[in-house]
Amino acid sequence: MKIGEHLCPGVLHAVQAKDGLLIRIRVPGGLIEADQLRLIADLSRDFADGTIELTSRANLQLRAIQRRDLSLIVDSIAKVGLLPSPQHDRVRNIVTSPFAGLDGEELLDPRPLILELDRQLRAEPIFANLHPKFSFAIHGGPRRFSRDLDDIALEAADFNSAPHFHISLGGAFTGFVVKRSDAVDCILAVTRLCIRLAHECGSPVRAKTVVKIPDALKHISDALPHLLTPSSVAPPSHTVNEAPVGVHPTTQDGRVNIIPSVALGRLNPEQARYLADTSNEWGGDLRLAPWRGIVLGSMPKRAADKIVNHLPSIGLSCEGRDGFQGIAACAGMTGCDASLADVRRDAASLAQCLSGRAVPSGWTVNLSGCDKRCARRQGATAELVAGLSGYSLNIAGRCVATNCSPEFALNAVAALHEDLISEVAAR
Ligand code: SF4
Repeated sequence: MKIGEHLCPGVLHAVQAKDGLLIRIRVPGGLIEADQLRLIADLSRDFADGTIELTSRANLQLRAIQRRDLSLIVDSIAKVGLLPSPQHDRVRNIVTSPFAGLDGEELLDPRPLILELDRQLRAEPIFANLHPKFSFAIHGGPRRFSRDLDDIALEAADFNSAPHFHISLGGAFTGFVVKRSDAVDCILAVTRLCIRLAHECGSPVRAKTVVKIPDALKHISDALPHLLTPSSVAPPSHTVNEAPVGVHPTTQDGRVNIIPSVALGRLNPEQARYLADTSNEWGGDLRLAPWRGIVLGSMPKRAADKIVNHLPSIGLSCEGRDGFQGIAACAGMTGCDASLADVRRDAASLAQCLSGRAVPSGWTVNLSGCDKRCARRQGATAELVAGLSGYSLNIAGRCVATNCSPEFALNAVAALHEDLISEVAAR
């Protein structure tokens, strides 16, 4: 077990933060069992700060842990199967749609491939040394909910009338597709080549770095002619920016997905327990979502009203009007020594101001406590970054004001929100 200040966290790699130790639990594909979520809820209540943080790669975090409790926490997590290979603690970053297998537009269900990729990653010692931020994505198409640029991403598409995956490295399409039956072998082979190329060039093992090595792509395609087929057509999938809260139909008769809004991606133990118990009671499942949320998947339609009506009593809602939709904030002053502003408090103030209003399409606001911009997501509508003299305000990627007071910055963002709503109403 390691403890450090500048590590990327894992279960066995606790990071010392301002409020105590922070651990991150990998959940490939966000596919978590009810018993696992219940255990995390109990650990959060008994040994952390009473919140479960949901990350943008559909993993979980616990923070404010005391050193003396760490061994017990690690043992408990391992017992419920959330640490299946200690050596591969931090390298199981695998993202998919939280609607996998339930989405009527999906070309194929990627879940069996996610589980197989995870199994094979854990089977090879060489992958234990991957960069802990190295991430994989397998999307069944056509919608993609993760905004992160994954190191190796497969996106399903029909190619010559058979399901294939387009392959992207570091966010850039390679110009190759792979057959569904070869998908996992291909990901593993490309990962091994990335490791080799990075080592030969002394660069970090990240696909976005490897693709910049001269002839790297040619090297990869020359090495894998049996797996890769050239394609001039780019992946057709598109990124969905908003969190689709509410009750949504599935491909299964009489079954729906129930998606509560989770303020700033943080569940409390009572909320997590309720979701876990409810999914068990009604024979549904749980999926952690890359918008830092959670989906009660495949729930009986007849139970939906009862569940949705109960949510407000535990501080959750399916209405999508609590003002928190699209807002993300980093750990801020309570959790991070570097923070120059109380970003969580400011995010809550902004949410209060927007509460009750409709949410403009794609509305995304990131609040970060310093220039490291940990809350950053691609394509944000607005971004607030705290500096020594106040916030910098970026709108659509362009800096429009610096050294702003929180009041000024939040009012400007609220005014932007109103303008966007008015624009939609005027159409
Ligand atoms: S953005 Fe800065 S203040 Fe916020 S968590 Fe990251 S390092 Fe800490």
